[in-house]
Amino acid sequence: MAENSKIEWTDHTFNGWEGCTKVSSGCLNCYAETRNKRWNRGEPINWGKGAPRRRLSLATWKKPLAWNRAAKELGIRKRVFCASISDVFDTEVPDQWRDDLFELICACKSLDWLILTKRPSYAMDYLCGTSGMGMSNFHEGGPWDHVRIGTSAEDQTRWSERVPIVCEFPKNFVSVEPLLEPIDIGACWPDWIIVGGEGGPGSREMSPDWVRLLRDQCVCADIPFFFKQWGVRNKKAAGRTLDGKLWSEFPGERIREVN
Ligand code: SF4
Repeated sequence: MAENSKIEWTDHTFNGWEGCTKVSSGCLNCYAETRNKRWNRGEPINWGKGAPRRRLSLATWKKPLAWNRAAKELGIRKRVFCASISDVFDTEVPDQWRDDLFELICACKSLDWLILTKRPSYAMDYLCGTSGMGMSNFHEGGPWDHVRIGTSAEDQTRWSERVPIVCEFPKNFVSVEPLLEPIDIGACWPDWIIVGGEGGPGSREMSPDWVRLLRDQCVCADIPFFFKQWGVRNKKAAGRTLDGKLWSEFPGERIREVN
C-alpha cells in the first residue's frame, strides 16, 4: 500500500512543517515530539506554546506535484496523509503556511488528501469561516472534493467533542490512535474509522475488547473499518490481525481481507 510512507492506510505522507503543542491525552507520547528532540540534541525546540515551528524545504513542498503527475499518468488516484509531524490546524502556525498548503492541495487533484487534526474547530473556522473556501465546495464535483477532513479521537470525551465537527464535512474520517478506552460512537457516524494502539516508549495498553467494540459498531453502522496495529504493549497480539482477520477497509471501496 504505502509507497513513500510507513503508514498502512496511505500511499504518501506530506508534512509542510514540523512542530506542535500537546492538546489532549492522545498527545502524551507524541512520536513527532520525540523525533524533534532526537534531531535537536535532546530539546524539542519546535514543541509547545510559543515555540517556533519549522517550515520544511522547497524540495519537500514540491514532492506532491511529482506524486500528482505520476498518479495522473497512471490513471490511479493516490492517498496523501497530511500531517504526521505537526497539526495542519495548529494555531501557532501562520495562516500563510496553511494558505500555501491548500494552494498545493488545489494544484494536486489526482491525489486524495487525508487531512488529520486534533483541532477540528479551527479547521472549520479556517476552511468554512467568512474568508474560507465554504462547505459547499467540499461536496462532490466541487473544487475540494479530493479532500477528506479527519480528526483524532483517543477516548470518549474527544470523540464527543471532535467527531461531530468533522462529520459536517462531506468527506471525513476518524483516527482512533492510540485507543485509550472503550468508545461508544453514538449517533454521529464518520465515513471511515482507523484504529490503532500506541507505539514507542511509555506506550499505554489497548484492550482487544475496546478494538472489538469499535469494529462491531462499524459493522453494524456499515462504516469502513481499518485496524492499523496493536501497538507495542500487546505483545501477544502483535501485527494487524483482529480475531484472525485483517481489517483494511477504505471509504468508497469495501475491501475486507480475510486470512
Ligand atoms: S496534535 Fe499530534 S503532532 Fe501535535 S502534539 Fe498532539 S500528537 Fe503530537
